Amino acid sequence: MANVPEIFGSQVFNDSVMKNKLPKEIYKSLKKTIEKGEDLDIGLANVVAAAMKDWALEQGATHYTHWFQPLTGVTAEKHDSFISPTDNGTVIMEFSGKELIKGEPDASSFPSGGLRATFEARGYTAWDPTSPAFVKDGTLYIPTVFCSYGGQTLDTKTPLLRSMEELNREALRILRLFGDRTTNSVSTTVGPEQEYFLIDKELYFKRKDLLFTGRTLFGAPAPKGQEMDDHYFGTIKPRVAAFMRDLDESLWKLGVLAKTKHNEVAPAQHELAPIFSTTNVAVDGNHLTMEMMRRIADEHGMICLLHEKPFAGVNGSGKHNNWSLSTDTGRNLLDPGKTPAENAQFLLFLAAVIVAVDEYQGLLRVSVASAGNDHRLGANEAPPAIISIFLGDELTAILRDVESGANHRDTPVSAMELGVHVLPSFPKDNTDRNRTSPFAFTGNKFEFRMLGSAQNIAQPNTVLNTAVADVLAGFANRLEGAENVLAEARELVREAMRDHKRIIFNGNGYSEEWTQEAARRGLLNLSSTVACLPQMLERKNIDLFVRHGIYTEREIESRYEISLENYVKTINVEALTALDMLSRDILPAVSAYIDDLGDATKYEKAVRAELIELCDRIYENAKALESVTAEGRTIADPLAQATFYHDRVTTALLSVRQAVDLAETKMPTDYWPMPTYTDLLFRV
Ligand code: ADP
Ligand code: MG
Repeated sequence: MANVPEIFGSQVFNDSVMKNKLPKEIYKSLKKTIEKGEDLDIGLANVVAAAMKDWALEQGATHYTHWFQPLTGVTAEKHDSFISPTDNGTVIMEFSGKELIKGEPDASSFPSGGLRATFEARGYTAWDPTSPAFVKDGTLYIPTVFCSYGGQTLDTKTPLLRSMEELNREALRILRLFGDRTTNSVSTTVGPEQEYFLIDKELYFKRKDLLFTGRTLFGAPAPKGQEMDDHYFGTIKPRVAAFMRDLDESLWKLGVLAKTKHNEVAPAQHELAPIFSTTNVAVDGNHLTMEMMRRIADEHGMICLLHEKPFAGVNGSGKHNNWSLSTDTGRNLLDPGKTPAENAQFLLFLAAVIVAVDEYQGLLRVSVASAGNDHRLGANEAPPAIISIFLGDELTAILRDVESGANHRDTPVSAMELGVHVLPSFPKDNTDRNRTSPFAFTGNKFEFRMLGSAQNIAQPNTVLNTAVADVLAGFANRLEGAENVLAEARELVREAMRDHKRIIFNGNGYSEEWTQEAARRGLLNLSSTVACLPQMLERKNIDLFVRHGIYTEREIESRYEISLENYVKTINVEALTALDMLSRDILPAVSAYIDDLGDATKYEKAVRAELIELCDRIYENAKALESVTAEGRTIADPLAQATFYHDRVTTALLSVRQAVDLAETKMPTDYWPMPTYTDLLFRV
């Protein structure tokens, strides 16, 4: 096994490498740029570029790439070599400051939602020095942002960085009002827990649905699913353990703080959690994690499925976005301390999150919407589609007392009594877990649990940061005009509870009563992507982003269109894949077996009759799917089209699936044209 401290970050141009490789003055000004957001000058960039190149060459790199996050949901890169010709026919390796800070990829094939006319193909990438560069596969990767010729953002990183700046500014105002003179910056920290499935590679290539859509469009349930709960935290099989070891090692080399790994609830499902970092770095780390999961699985003869719902009937995969606020001096602003009731500053930040989540629940819901995630949210395996906050009894009681003006005394933290003397005793957590809550306070951070496994975590964090920054700005305005800051802070918390306590819910989010109760409270219940996307165009939501300079109104409209388009494209590919499998694999297999069946026995007669009926049903349902898909393609209005795909195409897909899955259970294994759920879920 590798020496972990030695390999950790060995492929990263991190702080210690920079300190080593850069002249002292240059290092200092670069740090200023990174920490204070000061502008970068070209002279400095030249020196950094040269050092970066020398270091990259030592790591065996021959190329560099600007690495960015366009609106495709995945990262993009274009590799250029360092070579530069000389007069005598040889080359030298060069890399200038200009090449470091700016790139010009052709932007015409990236989604822009009509922002960029096709003739304005030019796009720019610009170095984001707050996330470290790294070497992978002989290429130096430089994290960048991506915008159009006209300066409109075409990526997920620019808005995220802007939202972090907003939050920093407003949180600092609050800290100053509480007398804090030492904190220089506040950033949001994120630790994204990532779920995934591993299946056998050979089997994967026998399923066109997995290949083209990432999920199974057909498949009868295996006799055993997750009902025994024997996979969750179960012993990790050797083949999976070997994969996880390699994965950890590659991630460590890339500076990703991979920490926890375990089996998840569904068979063949697993999870990896990193140690949290600054949001921006966490976003890049999560992209690398997903990429490495796919690659290392492949090297181990497996395929990593990151789709939100690869298999019907067993849990899908999500991501838990653990989120908090932290000062550059290392203080967690959401840490309640031992006596939360007396911690006015903590209560104020807590109140800001409560107000933000209630006010902008529509935007938070949109930030996790995707065709894949529609299968999970509200299906009693992931949180419901209704946003609410779990605070736990203790904090809820404190906030209630602030609201009513009662005097709250903190109860001393009690020790956990396990009743066995040899066991250590440890303090009891002040919040229990509530797995059903979409947005749970877990001791010193919030856990946003609605994210899909495949999604870019930048969007939800952009919404969260901006919404909280906005509320903090309002708080700071009030506090700055107040005579008594503490009294006013208490008043703000009181008002937050009075006006927004409807968002707090500590009960069972999966229950039917909650759906009804949430409706009475006026909370949004947006059950699908199509139902929630129009939230993006709500006046108050547009205003929030525009007010904070995150997006222009035009940029929001373009993102709305891209989201609708993505939804339609996803369902369309699913429909076309299903049709291909139906006409070329499934219907021929069922017919062939019907032909081969004799009628000598009762068994043969009965199965033959059943299958003939099912075969007709499959055929008719396939025809119906074909015609609704064709109709869907002709609809011009994006929202109408997406709505049609949701209402008609996904339902047609489901009808044909039901008939196929039933036929599968009546067919001999060797006649069935693709690996079954038993093969896929229990073979690794
Ligand atoms: P759980 O209670 O979910 O089992 P852990 O305490 O192990 O949790 O944390 C789960 C995730 O939350 C990890 O990725 C961890 O790094 C992250 N996390 C812990 N503290 C913070 C924080 N202050 N800010 C953001 N993420 C955090
Ligand atoms: Mg968790």
